[in-house]
Amino acid sequence: MAVFQSKIAIIGAGISGIAAAKQLSTFSPVVFEASDSIGGVWRHASIRSTKLQTPRCDYEFSDFPWPDRDNSSFPSHIEIVDYLHAYAKHFDVLQFVRFNSKVVELRFVGEPGTLVQFGQERDYGPLLTGSPAWEVAVQTTGCDTIQWYEFEFVVVCIGKYGDIPRIPNLPNDKGPEIFEGKVLHTLDYCKLNPQEASLLLRGKKVAVVGYKKSAIDIAVECAEANKDDQPCNLNVHIDHRRLVSRIIEGYLLWRLPFEKHGLKPDHPFEEDYASCQMAILPENFFSEADHGRIKFKKTSKWWFWEKGLQFDDDSRLEADVVILATGYDGKQKLKAILPQPFSSFLEYVSGVMPLYRSTINPMIPNMAFVGYVETVSNLQAAELRCRWLAQLLANEFKLPSVEKMLEKIAGEVEIMKRATRFYKRHCISTFSINHNDEICEDMGWKPWRKNNWFSEAFSPYTSQDYEEERLETKKSAP
Ligand SMILES: Cc1cc2nc3c(=O)[nH]c(=O)nc-3n(C[C@H](O)[C@H](O)[C@H](O)COP(=O)(O)OP(=O)(O)OC[C@H]3O[C@@H](n4cnc5c(N)ncnc54)[C@H](O)[C@@H]3O)c2cc1C
Repeated sequence: MAVFQSKIAIIGAGISGIAAAKQLSTFSPVVFEASDSIGGVWRHASIRSTKLQTPRCDYEFSDFPWPDRDNSSFPSHIEIVDYLHAYAKHFDVLQFVRFNSKVVELRFVGEPGTLVQFGQERDYGPLLTGSPAWEVAVQTTGCDTIQWYEFEFVVVCIGKYGDIPRIPNLPNDKGPEIFEGKVLHTLDYCKLNPQEASLLLRGKKVAVVGYKKSAIDIAVECAEANKDDQPCNLNVHIDHRRLVSRIIEGYLLWRLPFEKHGLKPDHPFEEDYASCQMAILPENFFSEADHGRIKFKKTSKWWFWEKGLQFDDDSRLEADVVILATGYDGKQKLKAILPQPFSSFLEYVSGVMPLYRSTINPMIPNMAFVGYVETVSNLQAAELRCRWLAQLLANEFKLPSVEKMLEKIAGEVEIMKRATRFYKRHCISTFSINHNDEICEDMGWKPWRKNNWFSEAFSPYTSQDYEEERLETKKSAP
């Protein structure tokens, strides 16, 4: 039998789950966290050299500044977890978190009448009605039994990255099973301590497959472990994809070294921005490449042979260790817990998760999703949307009809489609300020958050512009 614990369940205690727990603390939510700690990807999907790529003053809760917020260096993943921990402690949020508690299934038990019937104009009324809408099955680490709980509302914050590796689908007899060396995914590499990582790489022929931030970070660690003994081979899969860019050092500084190493991107710089694909490279990336310690191979198709990797230009690379920095399958994580028909609404129509105000899937009643859109600072995005959610659940405003929400979402998908081929990443960077404006308006806040027109026009928006205490004074600002 399902046990009643609270009105609201939050699943996951990464940045999004902790932000949700803080904003919804008046409801005394229960936060189920599968692992034994908070922090999410910064704990479980980071390697020694992983750093934040957003300036720290942007990756900051509006009411909890970094202790050294003017420090221009990018904090390490350990500093981020420490910061999140300090925040959770300061606002007494840890009391809500149940560690080692993995949600393994969700079951809809709400009124059948709340389910969306297509073609019918439908409105959601108040979301907290006093009767349960979802049952949540939780498995505690080391325990075979499953406990069911019932909640009126569920906030899903299980993250787009980490937990489930995306393994390339290779043809029969060309997969890792025929390779005589060792194959591991970034997620396995993240579990190694620095000594184990160094032992794995030192003196070995290492090939890293991938083109994003993790691949580059691992390639640099590999080059540092091996010095001049063995170069690390970074196999850049370029099939309709992109390499990393480097906004911080300017477009030219970014592009020239790539050209020098034969890796000129095939798309404009703005597309990196529009798809949230900008990455800050590790300091010594190009110097390691200049010393020949990182070698690049551009390829559109690759597979395994007994002694390494083979490419579509018929060349072969010998390797002892192949590291697949091929990303994560965030959708699979959701599909694993969401029942039908709801799991089929995760990519409704356009292949992008339909999320009104980046939070509510109009076809899934009494559930919110935080951490599924990307922008320059995912922390800032999560915090503001959790604040919006708190007001929504407190009945301070209402959702529009399902049709209106879907219409709004379709408009946003069109904007993303016009800005980038990679719109399925659900990056809202090109319209995030407008998006925040709308969220502020829903909450009865003034969308223009600066003290004067000049700042409004010329100074960047930061988390602190959305600080709650400042709102009342802002209401009278221009
Ligand atoms: C290498 C890397 C670098 C990044 N750099 C930046 C950056 O510079 N700037 C930026 O804005 N963003 C960056 N990001 C994006 C980052 O994912 C977000 O900033 C943010 O940390 C996501 O937090 P989250 O809570 O949504 O998800 P996660 O951090 O993934 O947390 C999800 C939590 O849910 C738990 N969980 C999962 N499944 C279950 C379940 N079934 N039951 C219970 N608990 C569950 C997990 O254990 C985890 O603790 C980066 C991501 C990575 C991987």
